[in-house]
Amino acid sequence: MSAYRALNDGSLPEFLGSLPQVKELLGGEPAGWTVEEVGDGNLNLVFIVRSPKTAVVVKQALPYVRLVGDSWPLPLSRSYYEHMALVEQGKHAPKLVPKVYHFDRNLALIVMEYLSPHIIMRKGLIRGIEYPLFASHIAEFMAQTLFNTSPLATTASDHKRRIWAFADNIELCKITEDLVFTDPYRIAKLNHWTSPDLDEIAAQFRRDEPLKAAVQRRKLQFMTSAEALIHGDLHTGSIMLTPTDTRVIDPEFAFVGPMGFDVGAVIGNLLLAFYAQDGHEARVYARSPYRHWILMQVEQVWRLFSKRFIELWDKSKSGDAYMPELFQEPDGALAFAAEKQRFMRNLFVDTISFAGIKMIRRILGLAHTEDLESIEKPAMRAKCETKALTLARRLVIDAERLTGISDVTSAARAIHASS
Ligand code: ADP
Ligand code: MG
Repeated sequence: MSAYRALNDGSLPEFLGSLPQVKELLGGEPAGWTVEEVGDGNLNLVFIVRSPKTAVVVKQALPYVRLVGDSWPLPLSRSYYEHMALVEQGKHAPKLVPKVYHFDRNLALIVMEYLSPHIIMRKGLIRGIEYPLFASHIAEFMAQTLFNTSPLATTASDHKRRIWAFADNIELCKITEDLVFTDPYRIAKLNHWTSPDLDEIAAQFRRDEPLKAAVQRRKLQFMTSAEALIHGDLHTGSIMLTPTDTRVIDPEFAFVGPMGFDVGAVIGNLLLAFYAQDGHEARVYARSPYRHWILMQVEQVWRLFSKRFIELWDKSKSGDAYMPELFQEPDGALAFAAEKQRFMRNLFVDTISFAGIKMIRRILGLAHTEDLESIEKPAMRAKCETKALTLARRLVIDAERLTGISDVTSAARAIHASS
């Protein structure tokens, strides 16, 4: 059994050479392989190992937060949860996650498919690239993974085992509990924002009692709801794609939690990209068609996701919740259909509220996004961020009053048009 040590350019080829399956995949001898460290994330080491024939990615957890250093320890077990989630997601959406070739629990290391020529979606959104299949792909990923890991599709005992299997991913959940649900609403050392431009609005958010109450209601839901195995960090930096292929990476925050947290992450990050466009256009209005495209994706993601989710539910016979035998034709079928609509309505409200919360933490909390951070002029960045915060607050406070996803995009458009 190998003890933990952080691998590097020197030690990685030899290690991979000792894994028969990986060695065969790469071909030839380790001496002929090259290693490049490409991790741009906040937490882990990511290497691309290339042979003359092909390439693989090796992701290894460090015992601390890479962004901050060894003053902030973080358990290696997150790699175990990431691997378990990748395998589970791969069962339900095999074409939408990277293939896993090897996992070493002691080294906290995953060898996986090298995605190429895929790029991180956030970077594509900054460049103004349209991805015609993205909405249907991410909708499929979320519908398949969320439905099939919930008791709508599985037995009560399987569900309890799934909760148990991920229950100790405590520290990663705590990062979310602190950085997403708490710190943006109090003075915290790690918070930062575009200052002084946003000083006043940041102070307002810290005094905003209705907003804080609504966010704390969602924090409690995040801590207690066990609906399905969620990715837990499904922002546009966890999606790699090309115009024809989409993959979801980096599920180290996975646990059994509220479904709307994943769907809201996608929608909230699209909305951040929408508001960032003003800072990336060569001249005013140059990105108007692209802004429109992004809002269409917001609508499509929700519509396709909810349609697919209901389709899976209609076909399923195996879940212990809502057993189909209880709802016989004719009245039962109607009642069941109405109940499914009610379920989707609740999920919509959760989604929109979590979307708003995710937007706020990216502007007032510790970890920001490149969409907005790459806008060089502070005045322009602050303007984009203020509009994003205005929408985000409304999404959290008014989620119940929004009748559908087009209410969200209309509000986004109206706030964008305001000066
Ligand atoms: P972290 O958990 O540290 O945020 P990620 O899993 O997000 O790490 O990976 C960091 C970066 O490494 C990604 O943004 C991407 O550029 C690259 N990367 C990760 N996985 C792959 C992969 N399977 N294929 C190609 N590049 C990848
Ligand atoms: Mg990560």
